[in-house]
Amino acid sequence: MIYLDNNATTQPCPEVVEAMLPLLRDGYANPSSVHQFGQAAKHQIECARLQVAKLIGAHAREIVFTGGGTEAINLAIRGILATRSDKRHFLTTKVEHSAVLRVAEQLERDGYRVDYVGVDRDGQIDSAEWESKLSDDTALASIIHANNETGVISNMKPLVESAEQRGISVHVDAVQSAGKLPVDLSSLPVSLLSLSAHKFHGPKGVGALFVRRKTRLAPLILGGNQERLLRGGTENVAGIVGMGVAAQLAEQRRTSIEERVCELRNDLDRGICERIPFATVNAQDTPRICNTTNISFDGLGAEAILILLSEAGICASSGAACSSGSLEPSHVLQAMGIEEKLAHSAVRFSLSQYTTRDEIEAVLELLPKLLARLTALSR
Ligand code: PLP
Repeated sequence: MIYLDNNATTQPCPEVVEAMLPLLRDGYANPSSVHQFGQAAKHQIECARLQVAKLIGAHAREIVFTGGGTEAINLAIRGILATRSDKRHFLTTKVEHSAVLRVAEQLERDGYRVDYVGVDRDGQIDSAEWESKLSDDTALASIIHANNETGVISNMKPLVESAEQRGISVHVDAVQSAGKLPVDLSSLPVSLLSLSAHKFHGPKGVGALFVRRKTRLAPLILGGNQERLLRGGTENVAGIVGMGVAAQLAEQRRTSIEERVCELRNDLDRGICERIPFATVNAQDTPRICNTTNISFDGLGAEAILILLSEAGICASSGAACSSGSLEPSHVLQAMGIEEKLAHSAVRFSLSQYTTRDEIEAVLELLPKLLARLTALSR
């Protein structure tokens, strides 16, 4: 199998699995228990908190563990709005993940005003529109850092600064960027930032929300006193420890991985465009996260391409995994003004530190043959 669907999820590092196994088997104590067994589990959580904080330039006490990226995002948005009942506006963009968009839609049903800022052909957020939509009534603004479908890296700093200068809190969805791009919260004035372990070779179902000191936030999940009362429920100790190890490894290896993966991704782009004249790389002219490419194959359907790739043992995706199977073209590509026909034909290949040159060469060898078959069939 050739796995090029790393934006959907990544293979856990062996070191992560090794760190989790003893906790699942023997270290099963409840971290809230006062006995030594429980306190040992609590200590492990605190070590992981430090490792996650270090990855993003935060303090350990600014990290709240959650049940994944989606939950962190829900906590950030809902949790802030609950503390600002005088403000009724939420600002975000048209290219967010569904974890943000579905919450935004719910806010609209709850009577909030929501604006979705547009992007240009390269997927970059329109900064003039962003500024014009910030107002005294804005309770929170939310931006995606690296887009899960196209890999586009938002030009975040000026957007964040313009909001924070007006006293408006900003949440960043860093689920696809943390561990792959430098994220330094000591120099980026955001109030909240969401992470997810399974996107950087950690386990699924565990994530974290960075909450800057002095940010008032209401919990979504009420229960015990865990996570400084911001997330009730007995902690997923093994998952949290796995996330900590994954964060530490990502931090140590990021620069060397980035260079190698970027080279492979660029070779994949170039190779596909040389061999397949009707292929276009979307958002090629703007900074993209090094592991991701989104390519339209004019005239063909992405679903059919994915099925043939899958039969040949190659895993790729048509944009957001959560929306695959739907016939709607990607909302991200639509927002970029990409014609419907091209959006329907877009395939996302996402690499990781485990992708090899041989695998990329095998894809370059196979893909033109598969597409020729498909073109013949669709005539
Ligand atoms: N945000 C982005 C940009 C994502 O790509 C994803 C997952 O694909 C999420 C949020 C949701 O994260 P999780 O799968 O941990 O709930």
